[in-house]
Amino acid sequence: VNNTKTALVTGANKGIGFAIAQGLGAIGFTVAVGARDEVRRKEAVERLRAADIDAFGVALDVTSDDSVAAAAAAIEETAGQLDVLVNNAGISGRSDGGAQDPTTLDLDVVRTVLETNVFGVVRVTNAMLPLLGRAESPRIVNMSSNMGSLTLQTGPIMAAYAPSKSMLNSVTAQYARRLADTNIIVNAACPGYVATDFTGFNAPRTPEQGAAIAIHLATLPDDGPRGGFFDDEGVVPW
Ligand code: NDP
Repeated sequence: VNNTKTALVTGANKGIGFAIAQGLGAIGFTVAVGARDEVRRKEAVERLRAADIDAFGVALDVTSDDSVAAAAAAIEETAGQLDVLVNNAGISGRSDGGAQDPTTLDLDVVRTVLETNVFGVVRVTNAMLPLLGRAESPRIVNMSSNMGSLTLQTGPIMAAYAPSKSMLNSVTAQYARRLADTNIIVNAACPGYVATDFTGFNAPRTPEQGAAIAIHLATLPDDGPRGGFFDDEGVVPW
């Protein structure tokens, strides 16, 4: 029997997801590296193992029912349960590095972004809930963005990406309400503006800094907050 806690991080092969995997691994979690590309996944697992982290790769495309079901089966076989799920995988939907103008928006871009950033989270969460239900203190963290905050209205105009994160926040609140009577704690995180492929590495924060709030929410005590939206500074307004 494996007594260490297991954490699945989606989109863990690079960027903030890799830093979350590294951070959770450093505090003793066995990390399931969820990544869709086999080469990038193996490289990430190697890098984590080189840092003395107990990691294994899980083939995972969050937009595919079959892939997600297979990932749940693989984690069940390897770990038997899941203590932490970090829904980190996300896309901007930008093709040209520019903003997404609502007045000329390509609806196919909206569909693609929602498929990953929102439906992917629901798909993965529901597949993993039976495994999370076996853990003592399960935690779910959804990587959102303050660009999804209807109060802040921050960042460039991105009419596919920003609403996807608003919807993800709403979905987070729905899960938290539904799971209020269970030991599963669900919250949304904003990593700040982080230098990754996502931002063309043109942002002030490091992936490790972006990962910190997700790691914090993944390791909340049993009386920790539920159904909230947080960054390093505290509560982010919806
Ligand atoms: P990156 O682009 O560096 O990494 C995104 C990760 O998601 C990659 O591992 C990518 O895999 C993976 N991914 C994308 N689509 C899928 C899919 N269908 N199935 C599985 N994995 C997928 O971005 P960041 O690390 O910057 O972003 C991580 C999260 O943080 C996102 O949800 C983003 O919205 C959020 N965020 C980021 C901010 C920032 O400033 N960077 C600010 C606010 C929020 P692959 O390598 O195969 O493409």
